[in-house]
Amino acid sequence: MLSFAFSAEQEDFRRQLRKFAETELAPRYRERAARAEFSFEAHRQLADLGVLGIGLPEEYGGSGEPDPITLGLATEALAYGDVNVAAAPVQVGLVAGQLAWGGRQAVVQAWLPRLIAGEVVAAIAVTEPAGGSDVAALRTEAKKVAGGWVLNGEKIAITHATSAAVGLVYAREPGSRGHDGISCFAMDLGSPGVGRTPTPGMGALPLCWGGLSFEDVFVPDDGLVGAAGRGFAGAMRHFDFSRPALGLLCLGAAQASIDEAAAWAVEREAFGRPLAAFQGVSFPLAEHATYLEAARWLCYRSLWTRESGAQHTQYAAMSKWWPPIVAKDAIEAALVTFGNLGYSIELPLQQRYRDVASYLIADGTAGIQKRIIATAMMGRTAAR
Ligand SMILES: Cc1cc2nc3c(=O)[nH]c(=O)nc-3n(C[C@H](O)[C@H](O)[C@H](O)COP(=O)(O)OP(=O)(O)OC[C@H]3O[C@@H](n4cnc5c(N)ncnc54)[C@H](O)[C@@H]3O)c2cc1C
Repeated sequence: MLSFAFSAEQEDFRRQLRKFAETELAPRYRERAARAEFSFEAHRQLADLGVLGIGLPEEYGGSGEPDPITLGLATEALAYGDVNVAAAPVQVGLVAGQLAWGGRQAVVQAWLPRLIAGEVVAAIAVTEPAGGSDVAALRTEAKKVAGGWVLNGEKIAITHATSAAVGLVYAREPGSRGHDGISCFAMDLGSPGVGRTPTPGMGALPLCWGGLSFEDVFVPDDGLVGAAGRGFAGAMRHFDFSRPALGLLCLGAAQASIDEAAAWAVEREAFGRPLAAFQGVSFPLAEHATYLEAARWLCYRSLWTRESGAQHTQYAAMSKWWPPIVAKDAIEAALVTFGNLGYSIELPLQQRYRDVASYLIADGTAGIQKRIIATAMMGRTAAR
């Protein structure tokens, strides 16, 4: 029989995290969201709850085997209280996963325990002024020298640019073109020659978004993650995980918004009746609840397919283009249900709207995800 049930342990964990999200995270969400400052206090609480080590090797403090479904559940549950804090397990999972399965021993030992313990955060630096969607156009160069590599170039729009201690930086061999010749380097962002510039955004401020520059930055041989010149394929495999997780992140925030709007519709009266008595109010909320549920299962379908080891690139792309849009639309409907209060900064709705909007772009826009799906359906003709 087909089952949509999570295991008893997963349900317990989800309940625990949802309670934490509502009682600990939600009350200070807007306060944290107003500052371009990473909250290590909240981050360490996630580490104490075991969230940052999900699916990572036990010897470094993780829970063991890859566990994408539990990571998705955790992300969704935490986003109910604070969508910015809840982004941490996705980022840690993305970086630490690449390090754990592609990093050299010295680098893994240096960073993985600290990432899992919540002592440091990491950045992934792909996007450049000349190429965001078109990753193969990146220009940052990594020149081989004795004992390591020397990197020169510039990255923009990087999450944790100003807060990360370590970065996974993608750079190419001089003279290489396209996807070939791109490698991934684990770089200590305190190294000489690294520059950091904050970029103010319309939301997601605590994720410390900004630019990174590299001027003759030396990365020792141990810093190479995966095979030299094969960094692009390695990165794509990990984005297949982060995309459904980011979908669930947006949906968790949207579910909180729809729940708040439903409660308000019962409480608030207009024309002598509760708002909920008007189908013009209750039906849109019912419709958004339906879309949220459908989008959730698309994300879990993708994570489940990943866990089973099957090819899931197209499901991951579906989970990244549609759920953030569903979530953004649901938050907008919740905001309107509250009338003037919804627009006020006294409520979290406007903040969630701006924070979730970042995922319409981060990790690839809807247009790029549709390109990936179309390629899976129709071959490379669809990606020309
Ligand atoms: C909040 C936030 C966090 C981010 N964090 C990171 C990070 O941590 N690390 C990192 O490396 N990057 C990060 N990014 C960058 C992000 O991945 C890029 O912005 C994104 O991939 C789009 O690239 P671009 O901005 O260069 O837009 P462009 O590539 O210039 O695209 C502009 C528009 O054209 C469309 N477009 C381009 N080509 C096509 C095509 N072939 N078919 C259809 N449409 C197309 C795009 O969909 C988009 O709408 C982040 C971005 C944001 C907003």
